[in-house]
Amino acid sequence: MPSPRRVSVDACPGALRLHAAADGPLARVRLPGGRLTGTQVRVLRELADEWGDGHVELTSRGNVQLRALTGVSVDRLAGRLADAGLLPSPTHELVRNIAASPLPGGALDVAPLVGALDRALCADPLLAGLPGRFLFALDSGRGDVAFPADVAAYPLSGAVAILFAGVDAGLRVPAGRVVPALLAAAHAFLSERETQRIQDPSRSHRAPGSGDATVAAGIGGAWRVRELVDGPGRLAARTAAALGVPLAEPVALDQPGIVAPVGLVTQPDGLVSVGAVVPLGRWSAVQMKVLERAAVLVVTPWRGVVVPGLAPEAAPGWQHALAGVGLEAEQGSRWAGVTTCAGLPGCAKSLADVRADATRAVRAAAPGGTGPAAGRACLPVHWVGCARGCGSPAGPHVRVEATGRDYEVRSPAGSGRACGDGVADLVATARRS
Ligand code: SF4
Repeated sequence: MPSPRRVSVDACPGALRLHAAADGPLARVRLPGGRLTGTQVRVLRELADEWGDGHVELTSRGNVQLRALTGVSVDRLAGRLADAGLLPSPTHELVRNIAASPLPGGALDVAPLVGALDRALCADPLLAGLPGRFLFALDSGRGDVAFPADVAAYPLSGAVAILFAGVDAGLRVPAGRVVPALLAAAHAFLSERETQRIQDPSRSHRAPGSGDATVAAGIGGAWRVRELVDGPGRLAARTAAALGVPLAEPVALDQPGIVAPVGLVTQPDGLVSVGAVVPLGRWSAVQMKVLERAAVLVVTPWRGVVVPGLAPEAAPGWQHALAGVGLEAEQGSRWAGVTTCAGLPGCAKSLADVRADATRAVRAAAPGGTGPAAGRACLPVHWVGCARGCGSPAGPHVRVEATGRDYEVRSPAGSGRACGDGVADLVATARRS
């Protein structure tokens, strides 16, 4: 297997490599599967209080961020995170990007696989060379995390399909071989990108979604599977050869609609999960003080939180407690589907304070109504302060982009005028209020 080159231009922030944001250094802490304990929430709250802006941000990959860090060295921060079990591998901290279906149940039990994949990934020195944007996914069969990922386990027809960039190219493994298959798929990616870089070193393009004029393929190779030529087909063939399995007939897959877990959800084992929307993906200290009472929590890729495994008699109390601190634990929240990038004052590139403007727009929506500002009647709505579009949801969504004077509302093709028009009306209302 060819030795992969490290991508020198990939600057994803981490816990050891802080991003110099306009409001101060920013640390991103990876949470494989979005999973963390109540004790870890307490540590994050204390760190945010001591050195940050007092809040913890949730990302579109189910990770968390501490902003505006002042008066703390990287070593001291890393020590506190490591003591809490939030930094198990300094060498692999940027590549522990594992999405997992947040709710228990489904055709594939992903909860035990998250830890197994994380440990195996961190034990593989070559995989420290993955780009920081490369995403693994463990999908229970709901189709809620597999499709945006670079390599994903997705139960299908009595086996587990390994998808590449959301595409089935015929690779099947039994459930007991999911972790080795995903690792082999990651090695296949590193080998294939090196092959394509050598074959065509002049090939260059913008990394999709980055907005940067970065020569991704020309300098260090692709960051994502979709940047490779015939990525799914070539990676499936390489991975099948490494595993010694034949390829099956591929199946055309459509991503099912995603329903973010909100409210009480009964699990297959009779226990109950409580899901809540976190308005604009920011936990306050008061909210964290409630969350840290939970044994285990799951941060979702939709900037929500799930408290799983509750006794049925305890679940309504949890729902009430979350709602009491502004976490929206009932269906029909105006905040559902509404997200923003950092915007002003956190990002110097921003043309607007998108959080404040999105907040005005949400509050302008009729309580209990079905207006599209909350993303319920049409699609998720993502507000951004510039064309770079950081933190955009993985699936179709309405984009509200600051232009300097106002906002431009862009709906994906085929979503219908009413969706974008409804959002535009609310944006205008918010600007007038
Ligand atoms: S989208 Fe633009 S304004 Fe928003 S965080 Fe990214 S660079 Fe900053």
